[in-house]
Amino acid sequence: MEQEMQYSVKHDIKSLNQKELENLFVSLGEKPFRARQVYHWMHVSHAATFDEMSNISKSLKEKLKECFELTVLRQKLVQRSKLDGTAKYLFELADGNMIESVRMKYKHGNSVCISSQAGCRMGCRFCASTLDGLARNLTPAEMLDQIYRIQEDIGERVSHVVVMGTGEPLDNYDNLLKFLELLSDENGLNVSQRNITVSTCGIVPNMRKLAGEKLQITLAISLHASSQEKREELMPVARKYGIDELMKACEDYFVQTGRRITFEYSLVGGVNDQPQDARQLARLIQGLNCHVNLIPVNPIKERAYVQPDGQSVLNFKQMLEKHGITVTVRREMGRDIDGACGQLRRRQMNE
Ligand code: SAH
Repeated sequence: MEQEMQYSVKHDIKSLNQKELENLFVSLGEKPFRARQVYHWMHVSHAATFDEMSNISKSLKEKLKECFELTVLRQKLVQRSKLDGTAKYLFELADGNMIESVRMKYKHGNSVCISSQAGCRMGCRFCASTLDGLARNLTPAEMLDQIYRIQEDIGERVSHVVVMGTGEPLDNYDNLLKFLELLSDENGLNVSQRNITVSTCGIVPNMRKLAGEKLQITLAISLHASSQEKREELMPVARKYGIDELMKACEDYFVQTGRRITFEYSLVGGVNDQPQDARQLARLIQGLNCHVNLIPVNPIKERAYVQPDGQSVLNFKQMLEKHGITVTVRREMGRDIDGACGQLRRRQMNE
């Protein structure tokens, strides 16, 4: 019975690394080099079906269809900016769930922002992605395919990836790690780990676990407040992992990996954008090898949060700089197609 069960479940072929695929092929009586060909079809040629794999025999294709599921996202909608190269994609998963991804065009190349979960359970107050809770984790293949489909759509290479779309990547740890392995695989898309950023709301135990993986990726922390009290107000996760514990984990992350931490700080008018907030933030992160990214909050209609005016943003930035902290203000891209993270998905799912 157990045996039967095992064979009736199809393997998620695009979530396997090359070695795992080779081993499976051998167990199916196929040569390892066939596995390498199929791997190339999926991760370099971005084939959408087994039938496209033209150097694979008909009989092997049939076997593949029987044993494996090939994850390919369906593009439901694209909103392309007329101002810059930004485009927002809505993809449908095999089970009908929807996810969002964003392409940004920079001088240094194409960057794609991917979702790591369908929905989110972290409950950050200003974020639209979490309003309906978590539907489910994304598989490594579903994370990868957001990038593959966008690369096919634009006909240009994607060189940078940020895991900053819907979902909390460290709440989907094992799949995230497999995704990072496949994404940076030299036999796959081969994106340099230095060009990959993973953003977390601060799940401390998994930050510590990640530090031990010795990856060259950039870890970004969504901080958004400089005191425990204010952070708890904006981010429920802060009740579980306090700000001191979080800062200690950041320090240790740098010591273990040598990678500079990025702090994201969404400026919310009248809430966390005052001079005393900037001073407190400077004190909190002083001495840490880090970089601060200020993001004027993107208002969502479900909450009364507003953006600070331009002068307050500038003052906040200068206050930090006076303390020797490197700061950037997130350039607003795709202003004409915007809508805060998760709003496009939410609208579509509710229809
Ligand atoms: N869960 C991860 C990654 C997804 S959110 C994290 O928390 O980091 C990506 C970033 O966008 C986070 O810094 C998040 O706090 C921020 N964000 C979400 N909604 C926002 C909004 N309406 N305005 C500005 N930033 C927002």
